Amino acid sequence: MNQENYEVIQPADGRHIKLWTRGVPVEDDAKTQVCNLARLPFIFSHLAVMPDVHLGKGSTIGSVIPTLGAVIPAAVGVDIGCGMIAARTSLSAADLPDNLAGWRAAIEKAVPHGRTPGNRDRGAWSNPPADVDAVWAELEPDFRRIVEKHPKLARTNNRNHLGTLGTGNHFIEVCLDEADKVWLMLHSGSRGVGNAIGSYFIELAKEDMRRYFINLPDADLAYFPQGTEHFRDYVEAVEWAQSYARLNRALMMKHVVEAVRGVMAKPFEAEVEAVNCHHNYVQREHHFGKNILVTRKGAVSARDGELGIIPGSMGARSYIVRGKGEEQSFCSCSHGAGRMMSRSEAKRRFTVADQARATEGVECRKDAEVIDEIPMAYKDIDAVMRAQADLVEIVHTLKQVVCVKG
Ligand code: 5GP
Ligand code: MN
Ligand code: MN
Repeated sequence: MNQENYEVIQPADGRHIKLWTRGVPVEDDAKTQVCNLARLPFIFSHLAVMPDVHLGKGSTIGSVIPTLGAVIPAAVGVDIGCGMIAARTSLSAADLPDNLAGWRAAIEKAVPHGRTPGNRDRGAWSNPPADVDAVWAELEPDFRRIVEKHPKLARTNNRNHLGTLGTGNHFIEVCLDEADKVWLMLHSGSRGVGNAIGSYFIELAKEDMRRYFINLPDADLAYFPQGTEHFRDYVEAVEWAQSYARLNRALMMKHVVEAVRGVMAKPFEAEVEAVNCHHNYVQREHHFGKNILVTRKGAVSARDGELGIIPGSMGARSYIVRGKGEEQSFCSCSHGAGRMMSRSEAKRRFTVADQARATEGVECRKDAEVIDEIPMAYKDIDAVMRAQADLVEIVHTLKQVVCVKG
């Protein structure tokens, strides 16, 4: 069969856009947004759009943005280095207690998460444990260097957010795979400090655009041209935040494994970092003969043989995948199912009873506060997986039995 697995559109005066969205709904607004992005002169070759695509700030979530000679800080966004980690354990379904409330409580206790009754981010240690301090000691010298040049970044939660989950869409799960093996999986990023770095540089890029009278279709497409001091400083800071995010996930996963050990009589093995992948980040890569920057905004790297995680929703399956190294996607795949509707629309359309039905059999919150995370607010993960069958192969199919939401 010679037919391509993606569709191609080309906006007037823009680069091609290749979309892996067959059989998956895509909002018109999202298409308009990708077309704006494709008109930027420093987009390299073409944009790759993943099946989980939906409207984002400045650029769509679920897109792969290759650039040559510039970087767009708002394309990476404020959730720098957000991603997934999965741990494989030697436990089986038969080892799980009938009632998983104790597991959930132990995990909730081990990882600070969520909001206070006053709606503030609760995820800060008053007194971080020793292993958190040890990881912070690794990260601190480079953070100091960034702050020396950009003192406004000094006043952020950094050390005391490390090892904490965050709010809303971030989660920790206990899952069973197709062979009834137990996996632990979590979703988080660079927390307050990544947010501060992202927001600061996005504003700086917007100021630069004003200073040089550069008009853009959307202010959130503001960029730093390569060769400038701001470009160098941003790349240094974003790479640091990405390291923070990766270490943050590994640290939390270690705490989750310890928490499970605390409630399991039987000893077990756990490969804590079986997969650890970013889905909001930028890095230097080589494609089509050139060294470029690839920004994945809600997309995962899927080089040939590389493992990735594609979560579904709090009531759907998730997938451990292996990349097929499809160059046309810049070796990428989707970062999830992708939102179908906004949080406010989900709250309008669904009830607590709908949420309870959609998460039946999952030990998780089912109250009004989490209706914006209801499985029906996300696209059908199976359709999403079919649309990217040429990008990744499914290695494991996971279904959660516990879900702790941020
Ligand atoms: P995002 O990083 O864009 O917030 O979310 C990534 C993806 O995670 C979403 O597109 C969705 O498919 C998936 N997802 C959201 N909440 C949950 C959850 O509670 N459990 C699982 N397994 N997946 C989720
Ligand atoms: Mn995030
Ligand atoms: Mn994320």
